[in-house]
Amino acid sequence: MLTVILGIIILFVLGYLLVKFQNPAVKAVPPADLPQLLQTHVRFYQHLPEVDKKRFVSRAADFLSYVRIEGVGLKPEPLDNALVAASAIIPIWAFEGWRYPNITNVILYPDTFNKDFQFEGDGRNTLGMVGTGYMNGQMILSQKGLRDGFARDDGNNTGIHEFVHLLDKTDGDTDGRPEYLLDEHHIAPWIRLMHREMQRIAAGKSDINPYGLTNEAEFFAVISEYFFEKPEKLKEKHPELYGLLEEMFIKKTTEPQ
Ligand SMILES: [Zn+2]
Repeated sequence: MLTVILGIIILFVLGYLLVKFQNPAVKAVPPADLPQLLQTHVRFYQHLPEVDKKRFVSRAADFLSYVRIEGVGLKPEPLDNALVAASAIIPIWAFEGWRYPNITNVILYPDTFNKDFQFEGDGRNTLGMVGTGYMNGQMILSQKGLRDGFARDDGNNTGIHEFVHLLDKTDGDTDGRPEYLLDEHHIAPWIRLMHREMQRIAAGKSDINPYGLTNEAEFFAVISEYFFEKPEKLKEKHPELYGLLEEMFIKKTTEPQ
């Protein structure tokens, strides 16, 4: 009798593990207040149909199950967790079931932080950075920068910016040339368009954040913020750029590995 009961328990455990590892997104339990926090603070989420909102919550919960959010000099609040998860999911929304392979921790600082880390990326690195070298797998975000990005409706969003760098980095280089997102026929036109628009920014003839002039990686991150925060405006003002970003983020002619 005991053997039978033990056998049944083992079967249950094996079944549970099988389901869990085959479909981890389904098994992640969302924090109770996650849907409400997203609804109140994240415009991208507000505009989704109901059925997609459920998928978004499930994917945000999955993200929070494999990435640890920590604070330095602060205790992350449920709002911070929701905003970090939203920043992560928005750029990969079209890649169902895809997970970032290159992140384990997000470290929040109250406001600004200095550069005494091995981090690459931003001249404005008081707002956010993606780790390299021994800091691989870590992202640093300013809590204020993160919250401001979602509170303001101006096409700028620090959280999305940093996760686009992380997505860019999945092919090995944070270089503004996301080979995983664009097939070979689109890469050359993308580079041409970037350079053309960077010249217009330099000449003071563009409405794109001048920070995009720093290099191609920053241009890609900045224009992606614009794409996800103000898609209609971008489509109207920069139809060609919009079209290629749509290829990357929506049409998925190719997907990250
Ligand atoms: Zn950047």
